[in-house]
Amino acid sequence: MMMQPNVHYAELKDSYLFAGIAKKTQKYLEEHPGQRLYRMGIGDVSQPLCPAVIAALHAAVEEQAAPGSFHGYMPECGAPFLREAIAAHYAERGVDLSPDEVFVSSGASDELGDLQDIFARETAALVIEPAYPAYVDACVIAGREIVHLASGPENGFLPAPPQDARAGMLYLCSPNNPTGAVFSRAQLQEWVDYANDTGAVILFDAAYEAYIEDDLLPHSIFELEGARTCAIEISSLSKTAGFTGTRLGYTVIPKELERKGLNVNSLWVRNRTTKTNGVSYVLQRGGAAVFTPEGQAQIRAQIAVYKQNAKVLTDALRRCEIWYTGGSNAPYIWLKCPDGSDSWGFFERLLREIQVVGTPGEGFGSCGEGFFRFSTFADPQDTAEAARRLIALLGNSTN
Ligand code: PLP
Repeated sequence: MMMQPNVHYAELKDSYLFAGIAKKTQKYLEEHPGQRLYRMGIGDVSQPLCPAVIAALHAAVEEQAAPGSFHGYMPECGAPFLREAIAAHYAERGVDLSPDEVFVSSGASDELGDLQDIFARETAALVIEPAYPAYVDACVIAGREIVHLASGPENGFLPAPPQDARAGMLYLCSPNNPTGAVFSRAQLQEWVDYANDTGAVILFDAAYEAYIEDDLLPHSIFELEGARTCAIEISSLSKTAGFTGTRLGYTVIPKELERKGLNVNSLWVRNRTTKTNGVSYVLQRGGAAVFTPEGQAQIRAQIAVYKQNAKVLTDALRRCEIWYTGGSNAPYIWLKCPDGSDSWGFFERLLREIQVVGTPGEGFGSCGEGFFRFSTFADPQDTAEAARRLIALLGNSTN
């Protein structure tokens, strides 16, 4: 029989947003050999892994060298030492979890795609836009209906739940990529209540929780009453501790989460035991070091570097009188393209005139048109130079 490909791939946008940016910058560099670019676009980090993590990785590699301490396959859902360390980290914030509600993963992207498996194909997904493109793309590949919920400056990019109950799978991202917006407790409680009332399940992407400075804002959805019966939290060490290339994350699925008599935590155990053979021992030891007092102090120092970058960039935007939001409780700055420019037009202008690379808002959904994202993860010297060039280009602009 003829193999039938998944035709939903044909419904995806031409290229993943960041691949599109890479292509355009590559073309520019080919046309302008030797030009230096200041990359404030893609959300990769510039600071290396912290010393506590490096020491733990080295020690674990040594263990793998000796017969008495060698580890083979790891438990599919995560090593007990890491599941316990993550549960203890939540407990410090007043969130009680049992270690078997914590699943160690190879990162949030992998999980956001894989978790599709526990929702029936006919369950529609709600995506608040502008949104991290992987939510929409994973749903498109799965052939799932998407309910797009637009947000904008009028609601601070934090819309309230819709009137209807069309979607059974709700993607929430807070602190948000790309807008930097963070749900308050009251706003997030509305979504939790809505999910419990309608039977929907929230996929809460907490990849940037470590950037929250304001004590009143929730880091975890499980700080909210009722979340244990309606939410899954997806987290990552990528931006918290520089694991973008090392790969480690975790997902929390409470034992109370059930739909139609099926326990979602048990479904995920069944899924993981079928589809993975666990994350490597060495990486899990490195990850556990992040949750030690030493590791926490070191990652705080790294996050402070990115926060200083945010200050440098937002100071420049203020000098240019450009409207922006984000950058304080999140590592992204979301700005309005000056002079009524569209977002790809502004991208081209910054690339060609000052060699600064950002991310066009349109790539995060149609309501992102006219906006632009700067990441604060670049090297501090590059960030300072990008800010200087922005001021030189736009300092006199009338926006
Ligand atoms: N979720 C959001 C909102 C992100 O911005 C990213 C990465 O940029 C991820 C998830 C993926 O993180 P990871 O590196 O853990 O796959």
